[in-house]
Amino acid sequence: MQQVTEGILRMGDRGLAVAEIRHRLAHLGLIAPASSAHDCDVAGCDLFDEQVDHAVRLFQQRRGLRINGVVDAETFRALDEAKWRLGDRVLSFTPRHPLVGDDVATLQRRLGDMGFDCGRCDGIFGPRTENAVREFQRNVGLPADGVCGPQTLRALRCLQRTVVGGRPYELREAERFHHDTPTLAGKCVVLDPGHGGRDRGAVAAGLDEASIVDDIVNRVEGRLVATGAHGFRTRASQLVLQDDDVPPSDADRAAFANAAEADVLLSFHVDGHRDPACNGLATYYYGTTAERSVVGARLAGLIQDEILSRTDFLDCRTHAKTWELLRRTRMPAIRVELGYLTNPGDAARLADPTFRDRIADGVVAGLRRLYEEAAERSSDRAEGALGGH
Ligand SMILES: [Zn+2]
Repeated sequence: MQQVTEGILRMGDRGLAVAEIRHRLAHLGLIAPASSAHDCDVAGCDLFDEQVDHAVRLFQQRRGLRINGVVDAETFRALDEAKWRLGDRVLSFTPRHPLVGDDVATLQRRLGDMGFDCGRCDGIFGPRTENAVREFQRNVGLPADGVCGPQTLRALRCLQRTVVGGRPYELREAERFHHDTPTLAGKCVVLDPGHGGRDRGAVAAGLDEASIVDDIVNRVEGRLVATGAHGFRTRASQLVLQDDDVPPSDADRAAFANAAEADVLLSFHVDGHRDPACNGLATYYYGTTAERSVVGARLAGLIQDEILSRTDFLDCRTHAKTWELLRRTRMPAIRVELGYLTNPGDAARLADPTFRDRIADGVVAGLRRLYEEAAERSSDRAEGALGGH
């Protein structure tokens, strides 16, 4: 379940903020601009009507956000980022408040296509993007200041795509992963209970999401130790939570995993829904229609399969999402939604400690398979090399 955010706008709401959202959606071509006097009488322009709801859903689908027609903090942030086109502003690395927007993502994609390594194409102007800009500038004979201003933009525009076929970032991520030691032993796995402290997440059937994910994390942690891997909780050390504490944001959790130089991050949630019929297991990894984390997608698939093979959860499949936790982490990261607490069947499953053990077994089996596959692939490659010339 998503964290509760303030300032949520949905169908039927009215006001200046709604007018702003309409304006943003019109700018993106998702809704007709309310330009004529007919459309823009005071009554229509600031109303969150069916048209806006539809446009918001379209936007959410395109961006890999939860599709619900509701403008929450995450959708609003994405709308805000979408307003920037490359060339609208000078882009540079500002450590305290890095620039974020679609213009940065476009820059990263262009640089990446030419072979300059920006890392993940996440729309955040970080140190790696700055390095890639410098590299590019050196290559085209511009002062290598790492600032993407008019001159650099002109040079970018002049150059055609030089890399064809395959997305360099995806290839690099897969390559890096396969060069790693191909075993789970010694790996640093960050385990993230999605809720805790005063944030209990979904609450139903006398259970709460925070306690369940905390218990699941314990069970996974124990199994990881047995395989020789290190499990770290996002709530350990830096982020110890007292009962009253406000839980860390998704960006904080990602920062913790980045600082720990984790190999993998696993985040655990239980979903909740107004409709008690909703049930089943779903796993999420970083991605959009344009780009995705290859290793993340694979890990999501393996963990989904391994849990399903041990339980009678309904298969709600794996999906690419751009949630902050998945986006800001620098390692393969996935988020597992362990059924719906609001569904009587799933709630009964989750209440059973044996069932939780099976979930934990599935998680660790999926992780283990990820590394075993990598080992097989690299030994195939070694054999191939030996059998060659
Ligand atoms: Zn949750």
